[in-house]
Amino acid sequence: MILVDMSISRRPLIAGNWKMHGLLHESRSRVENIMAKLSEVTDPPFDILVCPPATLLDSIGTITRHSAIFLGGQDCHSAHSGSHTGDISAEMLADMGCSHVIVGHSERRLEHNETNAIVRSKTSAALASDLIAIICIGETAAQRDSGETTMVIIDQLTGAVSSKSSATNTIIAYEPVWAIGTGQVPKLDDIQYIHSIIREKLGEIVTPTEANQMRLLYGGSVKPENAKELLMLDGVDGALVGGASLNWRDFWAIASTWLA
Ligand code: PEP
Repeated sequence: MILVDMSISRRPLIAGNWKMHGLLHESRSRVENIMAKLSEVTDPPFDILVCPPATLLDSIGTITRHSAIFLGGQDCHSAHSGSHTGDISAEMLADMGCSHVIVGHSERRLEHNETNAIVRSKTSAALASDLIAIICIGETAAQRDSGETTMVIIDQLTGAVSSKSSATNTIIAYEPVWAIGTGQVPKLDDIQYIHSIIREKLGEIVTPTEANQMRLLYGGSVKPENAKELLMLDGVDGALVGGASLNWRDFWAIASTWLA
């Protein structure tokens, strides 16, 4: 049974994952331009989040602090503190003014061997520091081709969502690995179907009410050209955007979908 309750309205979110891109001067003007655009809109019907590299959190946070733009980290360690050279704790992100953190991005899973158990421990650390965890899930091309998408998605959700997760502290981003940075996007029906499966499974992991209120983002080659058809799908509550978030005009064009 699919648990989607059409009476629930979830506030859309567009999140920009800048990854390991950007030096100070270009990044400042990127976020200043988005802020300027946002300030022209009365009561924007969506949230905007930017997730710069850790080196830019302080300077970008200084700019976003006095705006409606949320600031997020791209990853956090599961420990509160300790001997983890090069890592950053959730508490440190919160201390920098972050409200969100991405966990379990496929690039972390692939390049840093992050398992669902590790992702869950990072989710727990994020929640313990009052950060909203954006948990990324998604199948690889090989998993898609062998018909394992649904199984993988359910496995990742079961493994990575915390028992303390709720609609206010957790967001799920469905990002097929093969769609990230490739220009390929799943069929619209497939995205809608997977989002309904995610919400159904979340209903078992949290509660049906929390699942109906939790925001589910789509990520993978979202561009101004395809934003409307993707973001208007039932059950898609926003986008996690990589490449197109590096160009403020493209990022704003995607967000503007909700202004039309
Ligand atoms: C991502 O890496 O989370 C992502 C969605 O990237 P892109 O938009 O470039 O596909």
